[in-house]
Amino acid sequence: MKCSQCGNEKLVKTNLPMESYGDGGSWISGDVDIYLCLKCGHYEFFSMKKVHDYEETVSYIKEKEKELNTLKLKLVKMESDERKNFINKRIPEITEKLKSIDITIRQQQKLQGELDELKTELSRLPQEISYLKNDIRQIESELESKKYNFEQGSF
Ligand SMILES: [Zn+2]
Repeated sequence: MKCSQCGNEKLVKTNLPMESYGDGGSWISGDVDIYLCLKCGHYEFFSMKKVHDYEETVSYIKEKEKELNTLKLKLVKMESDERKNFINKRIPEITEKLKSIDITIRQQQKLQGELDELKTELSRLPQEISYLKNDIRQIESELESKKYNFEQGSF
Protein backbone atom coordinates (compact mmCIF):
# COMPACT_ATOMS: atom_id res chain seq x y z
CA MET A 1 0.00 0.00 0.00
CA LYS A 2 1.16 3.49 -0.87
CA CYS A 3 0.24 6.80 0.62
CA SER A 4 -1.79 8.66 -2.02
CA GLN A 5 -0.33 11.95 -0.78
CA CYS A 6 3.41 11.34 -0.63
CA GLY A 7 3.99 7.86 -2.03
CA ASN A 8 5.52 6.52 1.18
CA GLU A 9 4.91 2.82 1.72
CA LYS A 10 4.97 2.80 5.50
CA LEU A 11 1.38 2.92 6.59
CA VAL A 12 -0.14 1.54 9.77
CA LYS A 13 -3.68 0.52 10.48
CA THR A 14 -5.22 2.82 13.00
CA ASN A 15 -8.34 4.56 14.24
CA LEU A 16 -9.33 8.16 13.89
CA PRO A 17 -9.13 10.18 17.04
CA MET A 18 -12.76 10.21 18.13
CA GLU A 19 -14.72 12.80 19.92
CA SER A 20 -17.95 11.64 21.38
CA TYR A 21 -20.94 13.86 21.29
CA GLY A 22 -23.91 14.20 23.57
CA ASP A 23 -25.73 11.29 21.95
CA GLY A 24 -22.71 9.07 22.43
CA GLY A 25 -22.43 8.49 18.70
CA SER A 26 -19.15 8.48 16.89
CA TRP A 27 -18.95 9.41 13.27
CA ILE A 28 -17.07 6.64 11.57
CA SER A 29 -18.22 3.05 11.35
CA GLY A 30 -16.16 -0.02 12.03
CA ASP A 31 -16.73 -1.08 8.42
CA VAL A 32 -14.03 1.36 7.38
CA ASP A 33 -10.36 0.45 7.55
CA ILE A 34 -8.12 3.39 8.24
CA TYR A 35 -4.38 3.63 7.64
CA LEU A 36 -2.01 6.35 8.65
CA CYS A 37 1.02 7.34 6.61
CA LEU A 38 3.99 7.46 8.95
CA LYS A 39 5.80 9.99 6.79
CA CYS A 40 3.23 12.71 6.11
CA GLY A 41 0.37 11.89 8.46
CA HIS A 42 -2.13 11.37 5.66
CA TYR A 43 -5.03 9.03 6.40
CA GLU A 44 -6.17 6.43 3.87
CA PHE A 45 -9.69 5.01 4.11
CA PHE A 46 -10.90 1.70 2.73
CA SER A 47 -14.27 0.02 2.91
CA MET A 48 -15.02 -3.17 1.03
CA LYS A 49 -18.36 -3.23 2.78
CA LYS A 50 -19.23 0.02 1.06
CA VAL A 51 -18.15 -1.44 -2.28
CA HIS A 52 -20.45 -4.36 -1.60
CA ASP A 53 -23.30 -2.05 -0.57
CA TYR A 54 -22.79 -0.07 -3.76
CA GLU A 55 -23.04 -3.19 -5.92
CA GLU A 56 -26.11 -4.39 -4.07
CA THR A 57 -27.83 -1.06 -4.53
CA VAL A 58 -27.04 -1.03 -8.24
CA SER A 59 -28.54 -4.48 -8.76
CA TYR A 60 -31.53 -3.67 -6.53
CA ILE A 61 -32.33 -0.63 -8.67
CA LYS A 62 -31.98 -2.70 -11.85
CA GLU A 63 -34.32 -5.39 -10.50
CA LYS A 64 -36.92 -2.84 -9.46
CA GLU A 65 -36.79 -1.14 -12.84
CA LYS A 66 -37.35 -4.47 -14.52
CA GLU A 67 -40.29 -5.23 -12.26
CA LEU A 68 -41.73 -1.80 -12.95
CA ASN A 69 -41.51 -2.31 -16.71
CA THR A 70 -43.26 -5.66 -16.45
CA LEU A 71 -46.10 -4.14 -14.44
CA LYS A 72 -46.44 -1.25 -16.86
CA LEU A 73 -46.72 -3.63 -19.79
CA LYS A 74 -49.35 -5.58 -17.89
CA LEU A 75 -51.27 -2.38 -17.27
CA VAL A 76 -51.19 -1.43 -20.94
CA LYS A 77 -52.64 -4.82 -21.77
CA MET A 78 -55.33 -4.57 -19.13
CA GLU A 79 -56.29 -1.08 -20.16
CA SER A 80 -56.43 -1.89 -23.82
CA ASP A 81 -59.89 -2.93 -24.91
CA GLU A 82 -58.62 -6.12 -26.46
CA ARG A 83 -59.45 -8.40 -23.53
CA LYS A 84 -62.66 -6.54 -22.73
CA ASN A 85 -63.82 -6.78 -26.33
CA PHE A 86 -63.01 -10.47 -26.41
CA ILE A 87 -65.06 -11.12 -23.28
CA ASN A 88 -67.94 -9.01 -24.48
CA LYS A 89 -68.03 -11.01 -27.68
CA ARG A 90 -67.59 -14.36 -26.00
CA ILE A 91 -70.37 -13.99 -23.42
CA PRO A 92 -73.28 -13.81 -25.92
CA GLU A 93 -71.67 -16.67 -27.89
CA ILE A 94 -71.68 -18.91 -24.84
CA THR A 95 -75.13 -17.78 -23.80
CA GLU A 96 -76.39 -18.76 -27.24
CA LYS A 97 -74.71 -22.19 -27.09
CA LEU A 98 -76.22 -22.85 -23.69
CA LYS A 99 -79.68 -22.48 -25.17
CA SER A 100 -79.09 -25.33 -27.59
CA ILE A 101 -80.81 -28.59 -26.72
CA ASP A 102 -78.14 -30.66 -28.48
CA ILE A 103 -75.37 -30.18 -25.90
CA THR A 104 -74.57 -32.72 -23.21
CA ILE A 105 -74.73 -31.91 -19.52
CA ARG A 106 -70.96 -32.07 -19.41
CA GLN A 107 -70.63 -29.53 -22.22
CA GLN A 108 -73.23 -27.38 -20.56
CA GLN A 109 -71.32 -27.37 -17.28
CA LYS A 110 -68.11 -26.50 -19.03
CA LEU A 111 -69.70 -23.59 -20.88
CA GLN A 112 -71.41 -22.35 -17.74
CA GLY A 113 -68.07 -22.43 -15.94
CA GLU A 114 -66.41 -20.40 -18.65
CA LEU A 115 -69.28 -17.95 -18.66
CA ASP A 116 -69.01 -17.41 -14.91
CA GLU A 117 -65.28 -16.89 -15.07
CA LEU A 118 -65.53 -14.35 -17.87
CA LYS A 119 -68.25 -12.41 -16.09
CA THR A 120 -66.17 -12.32 -12.92
CA GLU A 121 -63.09 -11.19 -14.82
CA LEU A 122 -65.04 -8.45 -16.55
CA SER A 123 -66.52 -7.14 -13.32
CA ARG A 124 -63.16 -7.19 -11.55
CA LEU A 125 -61.22 -5.51 -14.33
CA PRO A 126 -61.58 -1.91 -13.10
CA GLN A 127 -60.54 -2.94 -9.57
CA GLU A 128 -57.57 -4.93 -10.85
CA ILE A 129 -56.44 -1.96 -12.93
CA SER A 130 -56.61 0.36 -9.97
CA TYR A 131 -54.64 -2.10 -7.77
CA LEU A 132 -52.03 -2.38 -10.47
CA LYS A 133 -51.75 1.40 -10.83
CA ASN A 134 -51.31 1.62 -7.09
CA ASP A 135 -48.48 -0.93 -7.14
CA ILE A 136 -46.79 0.94 -9.96
CA ARG A 137 -47.00 4.25 -8.10
CA GLN A 138 -45.53 2.68 -4.97
CA ILE A 139 -42.60 1.11 -6.78
CA GLU A 140 -41.98 4.33 -8.70
CA SER A 141 -41.77 6.44 -5.58
CA GLU A 142 -39.59 3.89 -3.78
CA LEU A 143 -37.29 3.74 -6.77
CA GLU A 144 -37.16 7.51 -7.03
CA SER A 145 -35.98 7.99 -3.45
CA LYS A 146 -33.56 5.08 -3.71
CA LYS A 147 -32.03 6.61 -6.84
CA TYR A 148 -31.89 10.05 -5.28
CA ASN A 149 -30.04 8.72 -2.22
CA PHE A 150 -27.77 6.69 -4.46
CA GLU A 151 -26.83 9.78 -6.45
CA GLN A 152 -26.13 11.58 -3.18
CA GLY A 153 -23.71 8.83 -2.25
CA SER A 154 -25.91 6.90 0.20
CA PHE A 155 -26.08 3.23 -0.53
ZN1 LIG B 1 2.19 10.11 3.13
